[in-house]
Amino acid sequence: NRDLESLTAIVTGAASGIGLAAALLLQQRGATVAVLDLAVDDLPEGLLGFEADVTDRLQVDDAVRCAALRLDGLDILVNNAGIGAQGTVEENTDEEWHRVLDVNVVGMARVSAAALPYLRASSSAAIVNTCSIAATNGLPSRALYSASKGAVFALTHAMATDYVAEGIRVNAVSPGTASTPWVDRLLAQAADPDAERAALNARQAIGRLVTPEEVAEAITFLASPSNGSMTGVVLEVDGGLSHL
Ligand code: NAD
Repeated sequence: NRDLESLTAIVTGAASGIGLAAALLLQQRGATVAVLDLAVDDLPEGLLGFEADVTDRLQVDDAVRCAALRLDGLDILVNNAGIGAQGTVEENTDEEWHRVLDVNVVGMARVSAAALPYLRASSSAAIVNTCSIAATNGLPSRALYSASKGAVFALTHAMATDYVAEGIRVNAVSPGTASTPWVDRLLAQAADPDAERAALNARQAIGRLVTPEEVAEAITFLASPSNGSMTGVVLEVDGGLSHL
């Protein structure tokens, strides 16, 4: 299936995990893909790297402009860069709140604002945001992270409304716990990482974590012009967690 042939995409946070899997799948389906991340030195062949921190507006504007020039336009933006945070409202500091909201929420708004002038010129423009089931399912000790993803959920609907008349679709994926380097880092902190991983798998209805490739399939589906009537959708890829 090469349904994205001749289309172009920017994926943020695509040096690792879900973003990398999405960048590779978009490429496999025919798109030319630019990666926007903090470090882009070790990307697989064919992915174009642009270094930027999504919390820095100048860096974002510059990277998006350079990427769109190199790609000769822009059809797809995947807003995926994000960081985690653990804690209750009593535990997280103001500094942590500002930092996580700046990356996970304002970062998406910044990259979107920089990309919209280019997306407007596309006849099949789509934005896909990476939300999380933390937005809608109360996870223990994830107050700040959940609030940030709740904002992504709302932002997706707000942006879908604002740009529908211009033909720009805005959707999101909501992954459950996915087997990415991020989760590996969390498990590495456990006393017995292997036992903790087995317990985490056992807690999933499907008996295992979601894979980055499965989330990438949903991102690519939402980005594809063949789904031209889907906008404002938040698609759960969570092994049933939200619905069973
Ligand atoms: P990851 O840590 O493997 O990858 C995240 C990428 O984002 C990294 O390459 C990192 O460098 C980049 N990044 C972080 N801060 C950045 C910044 N300020 N500017 C630019 N790039 C930045 O994580 P992942 O698990 O692949 O997560 C990707 C997205 O998926 C995140 O938005 C996360 O909230 C979401 N998510 C992950 C899970 C999960 O279980 N892994 C579940 C639900 C949602």
